[in-house]
Amino acid sequence: ADYVYGPGRTHLFVPGPVNIPDPVIRAMNRQNEDYRSPAVPVLTKILLEDVKKIFKTTTGTPFIIPTTGTGAWESALTNTLSPGDRIVSFLIGQFSLLWIDQQQRLGFNVDVVESDWGRGADLDVLEAKLRQDTAHTIKAIAIVHNETATGVTNDLATVRKLLDTYRHPALILVDGVSSICALDFRMDEWGVDVALTGSQKALSMPTGLGIVCASPKALEASKTAKSVRVFFDWNDYLKSYKIGSYWPYTPSIQLLYGLRAALDLLFLEGLDNVFKRHKRLGTATRLAVEAWGLKNCTQKEEWFSDTVTAVVVPPYIDSGEIVKHAWKRYNLSLGLGLNKVAGKVFRIGHLGNLNELQLLGCLSGVEMVLKDVGYPVKLGSGVAAAAAYLSNSTPLIPSRI
Ligand code: PLP
Repeated sequence: ADYVYGPGRTHLFVPGPVNIPDPVIRAMNRQNEDYRSPAVPVLTKILLEDVKKIFKTTTGTPFIIPTTGTGAWESALTNTLSPGDRIVSFLIGQFSLLWIDQQQRLGFNVDVVESDWGRGADLDVLEAKLRQDTAHTIKAIAIVHNETATGVTNDLATVRKLLDTYRHPALILVDGVSSICALDFRMDEWGVDVALTGSQKALSMPTGLGIVCASPKALEASKTAKSVRVFFDWNDYLKSYKIGSYWPYTPSIQLLYGLRAALDLLFLEGLDNVFKRHKRLGTATRLAVEAWGLKNCTQKEEWFSDTVTAVVVPPYIDSGEIVKHAWKRYNLSLGLGLNKVAGKVFRIGHLGNLNELQLLGCLSGVEMVLKDVGYPVKLGSGVAAAAAYLSNSTPLIPSRI
C-alpha cells in the first residue's frame, strides 16, 4: 500500500486536495446505481439548480463533468473559442502557467501578460490592450481568480469594469478552482462568461468532478466555436438536459451523492459564513507568518488570498525540507513551492471544510518544523498571534446558535 500510516489524523494543509468531511464520506459510501433509472435524473436536476448558487448565477448553465480542474479548463476553452483566436492570459504562477500551456497546445493565439510571482494580474496592461483593440481581435480574457501557487487573488470586478469601459465584447473565462466555495464569487455581477472549479478544493470532495458554468453569451459562442471537442462538448450535455436524462455518458454515482452532501453542508453553514470563515483563517495565518518574522510571497495586501498562504523562507533554508520534515515527523502535509518558487516558499492551504482549531494545530506544527530546520522561531509566537485574533473574531457555529 502506498498510504504510509501515521497515528492520529493527518493534518492535511495542502491547498487541495483537502479534508473531506465525514457526512460527505458517508454519503459516497454506497452502491452503484442504474443512471437511467428515474432517481438519478431527479438527483442531477436538483444538483444542477443548486450548483448555480456557488457561482452566484441565475442565468448560467452548469455542467458537472467527470474530470479535474484541467479538464474544466479545456471545456471552457474549446466550447467557446476557435483555433487561432486571441486570448489575453495572465501568467502569475504555476497554475496560470499550466493553463496558458494548455491554451497554446489547443492552438489559440495567447497574448501572455506576465507578472512577478507574488503579484496579481497586471490590469494596467489589460487596459492598454483593450484601449488599442478597437478591431476586437481579443476574443477572451483568461484569468485565474486565485493563483494557488503564490496565494494571490485577482480582482475580477475590475476586469469586468475595464471591458465595460471600452465596450469590449471579449469573453471572460475564469479559473475558480481554488476560490469558488471559499472566496466570494459573483458570476452574474462580474459578467463572467465561463467559471469553473474542481471538486477536491473548497467543495471538500474527492477529485473527479469539474464543475463548469456558462453564461448565455458563452453558450451563444459555443454555437460557432470551431475547436474540436468531443468528451467536453456542451452540446451533448444540453441535448441530454433537454430529454431529461441529464447525462451524455456514465456519471459517477458516488460523486453525485458526495456533491449533494457537500452542497448541503455549505448551504447549512451559509455561503457568506463560509467566506467569512475563510477570511478569518487567512487572516490568522498571515498574522502567524508575521509573528514568525517571515514574509508572505504575495506582495501586496490587495492580493492576499484567504485560501492559501505561500510563506517565503530565508535563503539558507530549502522550503522542500520543511514540507518533507513536517510530513515525516508531525503528520502535517504542507504545500511545496512550485517551479520558479521551488525551494523558496512552502504553502499553507486553508480552504474547504476546516475550523479554527485545526488551523492552530497546523500553525503549531509549522513552528516546530521551522525550529527543527534551524530557523530561529519563538515557539508559540505564531499560534499566539493567530489565537488572539481568532478568539476575538470567531462567531458561534451557525448551526448551533
Ligand atoms: N487551477 C488551479 C488554480 C489549481 O490550483 C489547480 C490545481 O491545483 C488546477 C487548476 C488544476 O486542477 P486539477 O489538478 O484538478 O486538474
